[in-house]
Amino acid sequence: MINIPETFQPASITLKPKREKSLRNRHPWVFSGAIARVDGQPRPGDTVDVLAADGRWLAWGAYSPHSQIRVRAWSFDQAEAIDPVFFERRLQQALDLRQRIISSAVTNACRLVAGESDGLPGLIVDRYDRWVVCQFLSAGTERWKSIIVDYLNDLVSNRLGIYERSDVDVRKKEGLTPATGPLSGAEPPDQVDIQENGCRYRVDIKGGHKTGFYLDQRDNRACVAAYAKGADMLNAFAYTGGFAVAALKAGAAHVVNIDSSASALDLARTHVALNDLDIARVDHETGDVFSLLRRYRSDARSFDIIVLDPPKFVHAKGDLIRASRGYKDINRLAFELLRPGGTLFTFSCSGLMGRDLFQKIVADAALDAGRHAVILQWLNQSPDHPTALNFPEGSYLKGLVCRVNES
Ligand code: SAH
Repeated sequence: MINIPETFQPASITLKPKREKSLRNRHPWVFSGAIARVDGQPRPGDTVDVLAADGRWLAWGAYSPHSQIRVRAWSFDQAEAIDPVFFERRLQQALDLRQRIISSAVTNACRLVAGESDGLPGLIVDRYDRWVVCQFLSAGTERWKSIIVDYLNDLVSNRLGIYERSDVDVRKKEGLTPATGPLSGAEPPDQVDIQENGCRYRVDIKGGHKTGFYLDQRDNRACVAAYAKGADMLNAFAYTGGFAVAALKAGAAHVVNIDSSASALDLARTHVALNDLDIARVDHETGDVFSLLRRYRSDARSFDIIVLDPPKFVHAKGDLIRASRGYKDINRLAFELLRPGGTLFTFSCSGLMGRDLFQKIVADAALDAGRHAVILQWLNQSPDHPTALNFPEGSYLKGLVCRVNES
């Protein structure tokens, strides 16, 4: 049974002159500064008509009075009603895509819905084996939550339960409070086991980062594994050691996992046993990457492979300079710690840091370290985290594989 939310009051948003260009290009965000007038009394999450200054119809969107992103467009087709069936259709499309691109032989965990890029702004849905985990990050998705959960129940095969992890800061910007807990079906256990490319991972879906695991790094874990045979590896910002397990399974000689979170490293230790790996092949260091890498440098330690996967350093444009220094610092230290012929896998998940700038920072870091290196590959988020061409912001994770010269 699908619940229909209370009827929306008709309301419309009229943009200032010449502010309709991005919507006409199907970018889904309307910022508060672009709005000339609100007609009617839309409540948070209500569907509104978005009109150009001359009255031309542009989009249906969800109104969010507390957010700088005042409207998120649901549809650019006036004939498409924003009703329960709209959500069924968009969810079905998102699930069909995953079915085509993610083989069950590769993994039983993936992102089913990636917000704006799947035409559902503010909605994240991940699957971990038989458990579904959702984040409702916008007033619009919050308003349609029960409909979305009902359809996920209908459409996701074999699920045991749907769990909410809307405990993220961006909800504050939408005027929403954090929300976690079961939404439907059974309550998940504290930890859920998944498999990915022959590796087993234990995911804390109730308390882990994001919805519990960095699904976006799946293909990059496989990429690191392809270089790992016989390597001494440093896995900095390890979280629960995803890269370490993939590398050890592929024959890495030894890995050091560094993270500031002791509980994340506890799970990393569990992963070693879960994958029948010898614990002597892994060290775990709880601490700050910036200072530990300096200590390793003064101890003259060196590695064949270094993975740098820091948290988001750039939260707003104003952070860019400070963040760039942070990226450069860790990358310079990594270049200093690499053995001749060694390989650096360096990432930035800051959407506000462009690829060109990231590459330049890594180049400057190599220069300062006195190393010559070449880029072997650019890396991206895995394809179950797609980027709609009209929403470049959806592409946030970038990585470089750099090999330093033999001498
Ligand atoms: N590479 C991981 C994801 C990393 S997320 C994976 O593939 O699963 C970033 C991690 O960096 C988090 O686990 C966080 O606890 C850790 N972290 C943040 N700042 C840190 C610091 N200064 N030193 C060490 N770890 C840090």
